[in-house]
Amino acid sequence: MEQSIANQIMDRADRLAQFSSMKDGLTRTYLSKEHKQAHQQLAQWMHQAGLSTHQDSVGNQWGRKVSSMPNAPTLILGSHSDTVSNAGKYDGNLGILLAISALEQLKDLDFPFHIDVVAFADEEGTRFSTTLIGSSAVAGIFNPLWLEREDRDGVTMSEAMCYFGLDPELAGKDALQPDQVLGYLEVHIEQGPLLEAKQLPVGVVTGIAGAKRFQLSVKGMAGHAGTVPIDMRADAFCGVAEMTMAIESYAKQNQLVATVGKCDVVSSSVNVIPGQVNFTLDIRSLEQSKLERSCDDLLTELAIIAQNRGLEFKHEQFYQAEAVPCSKKLQQTWGEVVTEVTGKPSEYLPSGAGHDALAMAHLTQVAMLFVRCDKGISHHPAEAVQQGDVAVALECLIKMLIAQGKAHKLSEAANHG
Ligand SMILES: [Zn+2]
Repeated sequence: MEQSIANQIMDRADRLAQFSSMKDGLTRTYLSKEHKQAHQQLAQWMHQAGLSTHQDSVGNQWGRKVSSMPNAPTLILGSHSDTVSNAGKYDGNLGILLAISALEQLKDLDFPFHIDVVAFADEEGTRFSTTLIGSSAVAGIFNPLWLEREDRDGVTMSEAMCYFGLDPELAGKDALQPDQVLGYLEVHIEQGPLLEAKQLPVGVVTGIAGAKRFQLSVKGMAGHAGTVPIDMRADAFCGVAEMTMAIESYAKQNQLVATVGKCDVVSSSVNVIPGQVNFTLDIRSLEQSKLERSCDDLLTELAIIAQNRGLEFKHEQFYQAEAVPCSKKLQQTWGEVVTEVTGKPSEYLPSGAGHDALAMAHLTQVAMLFVRCDKGISHHPAEAVQQGDVAVALECLIKMLIAQGKAHKLSEAANHG
């Protein structure tokens, strides 16, 4: 049975990918015409699954499997429907489609809580350069200053909301309260190569890594490439090269990831010794305390390298996101369910990428399941998943919901008994 539904999910992913602003590829940004069309299509599939639907203040699309207990709390399933430019079909979208299909399969079962599916309208931040708009609004951390942000054509988010048919005055005012919500579950493609390397269809996410980003600058002395002797130079780029190697070996020794992703030699020329180099550092860890400590260690080490080479070193942090651990209890249940479905011990892995769960953790406990993707490729048209893996993920999600239903009934009985 799961195979034919998985087939339908693959088919729906193809159909959803047609709502794109790009001719031969997929780009779907927040508050665009394609956003509206994709959400109308999702709402139609939600109806078909027996869900009652609505759109919230920032344009997220909701579908609800209503419990016979009207005052019951809600378990939320979801992911995002927006994409990066020239994206793949499964990042975000797969999690929404799986949730709709899982609830369709559970149509005739009454749960002691409502179950919502939400398609978050913005996670990637492609249009307004600020991420997690949809889930932040739900979790009560929508920043009204975002309304003034402009897209590439100078349209503010506030104006875009009006064109879309939303009232910017109300944005984020319908945030949920923690006591209304039981938890947030998200299924998402892995976006990394670990599951494929271990030949596993799915894996349980332990948490979302925290990240810090720095703008770094090294100043030396520019000079003639032919006349200044090699041991009398203050070559900024040689300094940055040594720093980059130091960053890599620190990351290896301390089991974290650190990346120099941008590097510009200022006024570069083939015959000039680099006088100034600006570069970036992105560093991530699942443990917040380790992240803090590593940044301190590394910046100290880089400053020493600069000093030894007679260079001036400056650094400025311009971004940070705190590490979010997934609920231990929900991880355990995911693990049991995955073992039951696959017949193998379940794999536990961290997420190096950010997800809607990052914002939802401000509201409730979160847990995620990763689905293997081809060569770990994402944010690219070559992004791919296997139908068999989608079938496994669907079965895991259905069993997870049933397990939550049982656990909730038991805890209710214990409370009253
Ligand atoms: Zn995503």
